[in-house]
Formats: sequence, C-alpha cells, structure tokens
Amino acid sequence: MIEVKNLSKYYGDFKAVDKLNFRIGEGEIVGFLGPNGAGKSTTMNMLTGYLAASEGQILIDNKDIMEDAKTARKAIGYLPEIPPLYPDMTVMEYLSFIYELKGAKQPRKEHLQEICKLAGIEEVRGRLIGNLSKGYRQRVGIAYALVGDPPILILDEPTAGLDPKQIAEIRELVVHLGKKHTVMLSTHILSEVQAVCRHIIVISAGKIAADGNPDTTAAQLCKERGVLVRIEGPRGEVVTALRNLSGAGKVKCRQTEERNVYEYTVLQEGDQDMSRSIFALCASHSWPLLACRSAEGTLEEMFIRLTDTDRGV
Ligand code: ADP
Ligand code: MG
Repeated sequence: MIEVKNLSKYYGDFKAVDKLNFRIGEGEIVGFLGPNGAGKSTTMNMLTGYLAASEGQILIDNKDIMEDAKTARKAIGYLPEIPPLYPDMTVMEYLSFIYELKGAKQPRKEHLQEICKLAGIEEVRGRLIGNLSKGYRQRVGIAYALVGDPPILILDEPTAGLDPKQIAEIRELVVHLGKKHTVMLSTHILSEVQAVCRHIIVISAGKIAADGNPDTTAAQLCKERGVLVRIEGPRGEVVTALRNLSGAGKVKCRQTEERNVYEYTVLQEGDQDMSRSIFALCASHSWPLLACRSAEGTLEEMFIRLTDTDRGV
C-alpha cells in the first residue's frame, strides 16, 4: 500500500532523511518512532506530498506520488504536526470549508456528521475552534484528516501536548480508525505505540534503526550484546583493563552518584559471556564489583539508549 524506496531529504547541505526504505501494508496501524529531530515530520511531509523528496521514490498503491500527486493526495488524510485550524470558525464551518477544499464527493451533511461522531466532537460542533481545549482541537485535526474518507491516515504526533487522559482517548480513537483505515502515526514516546501498533518503524538521525513487530524491533535495536557493570576503582585503569579482556569490544563509561564508582557497558564481540572474566579481573585488582548484569534489555531500554545517542550523551 505504501512503499518507500531510498527516500532522502536535504535541507541545504544537511541530510535530514537518509535513504529510508520501508513498506506499510493495507489495514496496518504503524508506529513511526524516533527521538525529536530524527526526521519523522520530514518523512511524513514527503509521504503526503507537502514536501518534495531530494532522492528516492514513494509509491501509494503502486502509483508514484511524484508522477501522480493528485491521486496520491486523495488517498491520504494527513494530520500535520501543527494542524491547519482556523480559530475564528466553528467546528462545522471549518469542516464544511475543508470538504469544499478537498473536493469531497460524499453527501456532505451525512459525511460530516459521521466524521464528527467518529472523532468524538459532536458536542462541540457549534463552538469556535479557538475556544476549544487542546484535546478537542486535536480531534478536530483528526476530523480534518478524515474528510473525503481517505483509506490512509498519516498522523504526526497526534498525542503531543495532551494530558494522560486525552492521550488514552486519542489512542482508543486510533485503534477504532485502524479498523477501517491504514494508519501511520508518529511519536517520540515508545509506550504510546507499543499499546496500539503491531508494526513499528524506528528512525534515528534520519536512518531506519529498526523495522518490525515490537518484539523483533527490540532484537534489532539490541544488536549490541554485552554486560553492564558497576566498579569502584580508578576509571582510566579500569577502562583499559576491561578493553584488554579477551572478547571485549567497545567499553562505555558513565559517572555515578558515588565517588570513584563508575558504570561500564562492556560490549562483547564473540558469543562468550564476559561476566566471569570481569569478576576475575576485579578480584585480581581488588576493585569492588558492585553490580553486574546483562546489557540486553527491554525495548524501552533500547529506545532510551538510542535517544541518548542522538543527543550525543
Ligand atoms: P522530527 O519530526 O523527527 O522531530 P523533523 O523531520 O522535524 O524531525 O526534523 C529532522 C531534522 O531536520 C532536524 O534536525 C531539524 O532541525 C531539521 N529540519 C526540519 N525542517 C527543516 C527546515 N525547514 N530547514 C532546515 N532544517 C530542518
Ligand atoms: Mg516532528
């Protein structure tokens, strides 16, 4: 249904999106996940034809959107990061205006009524958009995307800035929309997509970091296997000694709240578990080994690690 091939976007010399490849099947609810600045909005703007790609191809139902932008746009309902709402219009005036703008063909009254019901905004139909709460405004944004009944919905951070109750409500709405539509939603919060999506695409610094179901995604993000240890001792000497252990790869070091105690991640290069040799090393130097566990973790941990890397921590 959606196929992206070698998609890239440059802003001047800066490559914001770097050779993305992915597929989204019909009827899927896909979570597009990545830290702030990863390139989610840029990608979504290209998928919806709002931004021209620098390189690559986007196929919607096997049609290249660069060759047939109009048809592709009709197939997609898009909620941009900042929804194009007009505060001086009532909800109904606004949706009628969008109906005209999109050239929708459905019987107007019934169609807009159905959308209001679906988006849960029936009770605010006559109110000015400028007077609505953020949660309701976001629902009006989703209603905007639904005008014309496009088979694909692309929602850019639909829960950004909402409180936990509103987030839960939007999540429920997305699940409901997913029964009739193919949905792609972006977020920088992992738990949000874990609850809703069976397909997750993770991007980091413009590149795909993982693509699959939540379980395989964890495995992909977690290519680095290793051991997490807490050792009391001289940092420089400990790092050198850990690096020199047979089977050890990169060693990362973090400060802790305790003096002279550091946390190290020792990545392993082979299959051999490092914990025994680390224990022996610490014993031989009389460095107290305060903790030792496998660095393989949950998807949550992996995602935090990815996010940290992006911020250059
Ligand atoms: P996300 O939606 O994942 O937070 P964006 O797609 O908005 O990320 O941005 C990706 C990167 O591109 C960021 O580093 C951002 O600063 C940069 N960027 C986005 N829009 C522009 C633009 N119009 N001009 C220059 N750089 C941009
Ligand atoms: Mg964004």
